[in-house]
Amino acid sequence: MEKRNLFSLIPKVDELLKEPLMTKLLDKLPRVVVVDSIREEIQFLREDIKNNFITEKNIDKRIEKLPRLIEKRANKKNSFKLKKVINGTGVVIHTNLGRSPIDEEVMKNVLEISSNYSNLEFDLESGKRGSRYSHLEKILSDITGAEAAMVVNNNAAAVMLVLSTLAKEKEVIVSRGELIEIGGSFRVPEVMEQSGAVLVDVGTTNKTHIWDYEKAINEETGAFLKVHTSNYRILGFTSSVSIEELYELKNRYSIPLVEDLGSGVLIDLSKYGLEYEPTVQDSIRKGVDIVTFSGDKLLGGPQAGIIVGKKEYIDEMKNNPLTRAIRVDKFTISALEATLKLYLDEEVMKEKVPTINMLTLSQGELEDKANILKEKLKYNMNDKDINIEIVDDYSEVGGGSLPLEKLPTKCICISLKDLSVSKFEKSLRNFKIPIITRVYKDKIYIDMRTIRESDFDTIVKGVLEALNEVKGVF
Ligand SMILES: *Cc1c(COP(=O)(O)O)cnc(C)c1O
Repeated sequence: MEKRNLFSLIPKVDELLKEPLMTKLLDKLPRVVVVDSIREEIQFLREDIKNNFITEKNIDKRIEKLPRLIEKRANKKNSFKLKKVINGTGVVIHTNLGRSPIDEEVMKNVLEISSNYSNLEFDLESGKRGSRYSHLEKILSDITGAEAAMVVNNNAAAVMLVLSTLAKEKEVIVSRGELIEIGGSFRVPEVMEQSGAVLVDVGTTNKTHIWDYEKAINEETGAFLKVHTSNYRILGFTSSVSIEELYELKNRYSIPLVEDLGSGVLIDLSKYGLEYEPTVQDSIRKGVDIVTFSGDKLLGGPQAGIIVGKKEYIDEMKNNPLTRAIRVDKFTISALEATLKLYLDEEVMKEKVPTINMLTLSQGELEDKANILKEKLKYNMNDKDINIEIVDDYSEVGGGSLPLEKLPTKCICISLKDLSVSKFEKSLRNFKIPIITRVYKDKIYIDMRTIRESDFDTIVKGVLEALNEVKGVF
C-alpha cells in the first residue's frame, strides 16, 4: 500500500522536462540525450523504492535532487568517449593514457594544416605531384645525420616495412636475448613472420657472441636485426654484441644492419641526470644502415614510425606496396614536423616538448608545484575528513623506455579518515575530467611530474566532489 503511494510521487517525464534546469539543459544538449537521462533516473528511483532504499522519509529529498542527477547523467552521456584525463600516475610515457602529450604550439600547426588544403602531395616548385614523405626527410636527416628518412604509422609498421623490403623470404639474424615482446602485442618473432622474413635466432637468452652471428650467415641471409630490449633488462652473466662488432661483420659480408631502437631518443639524456640511452645519432654514426623508432615515446611527438638510414634502402621502402597501407596522414606529418623543428634548439625543445620537459623537471620545480597544489586543496577542504601531505616518491619513464630508471619526485598523498579510499579513487577516475591516480597502502598519490599547473583547479574540484561522494553528500 505504502509503496504504491511512493511510486505515484515520481514525476512524469513531461513534468521534468518543464523544470528550469531541464530547459536550460535542452538548449545545450540533444533532446534525446536529456529524455533518455530522465527515463534512466526515473527507473533508478523506481528500483530504489522497490528495494526499500527509498522510504517515505527520504523520498522528497530524492525527488528534489532529481533534476541535478539528470543533469549530471545527461552531461556524462553527451561527453566524448575519448577524452582528456589528468595523469597523476607519474608514468610519463603512459601507453594507456595516450603516451606523449603534444605541445599546444605544435598543435596550432596541425590545426592550420588539417583545416585547410595543403601541399601534402604537391610539389610547389614544379607544380606537379609531390611526395608526402618529402616534408620530413630533410629535417630528420639534419637531426639524425642519416642520408634519408621516411615515416609510417608507427614503429611496429616501420619494422615490418624494413624487413619486408630488405629480407622478404630471406633470413634475418637476431640475438635470442632480443626476441622481445613490447606491450600491446608487438612481438619480434611475430612481426618478422608478418613481414615475410625468416627468423634465425642466435646465441642464448643471456649471452650472444659475434661468432654466433657469423656462424648463421649463408646465401639466404637478408639482414642483421638488432632490437633495443626496451622494457626489460637481463642482468648478471650476460653479453651482447655491440654495434661496432656487427658493423665489421656486416661490411665483410655486405649484409644490411637494421636496428629497432624503440624509443628513439634524439638527445643525450644523461646530461639531465637520467641513465644514458643510446641515441639515434649514435646508431647512424656507428654505421647502422637502417634505424627505426617511435614518434610518441621519448621523442615526444605524435604516434609514428620513423625510419632513417641509407638512401638506397629507403628508396626501396618508398616503393614497397606495403607503404601505401601504413602511410601517415597530414595530422601526423604536420605534428611531427613541428615537433622536430623544436629539436633544432635543445633549450627550446626541453621547455616545449612535454615529455622531455616532464622528464627533466628539477626537484625544486616539483616541490613548488606540490606546495601550490597542497595549499589549494587545504584551502578548499575540511581537515576533519582528509589528510593531505607532500611525500617523496619515484616517477617512471614508461613506454618501455629506461625501465630501470627511478626518477625522484614529489607527490600529493591523500589519506581519508574512516572513508573508503577505493571509492574515492573511483570517483576521481569518473570525474568529468578523469583524474588517474596511484593507490598504495590505502593512500592516494598524485605525482607532480605528470600533471600541469593549469589542471590544479580541476584537481581541487575533482577531489572535493570525490570527497562528497564517499561521504554520501550530494
Ligand atoms: C615500442 C617499441 C616498438 C613498437 O613501437 P610502436 O610505435 O608502439 O609501434 C617496437 N620496438 C621496440 C623496441 C619498442 O620499444
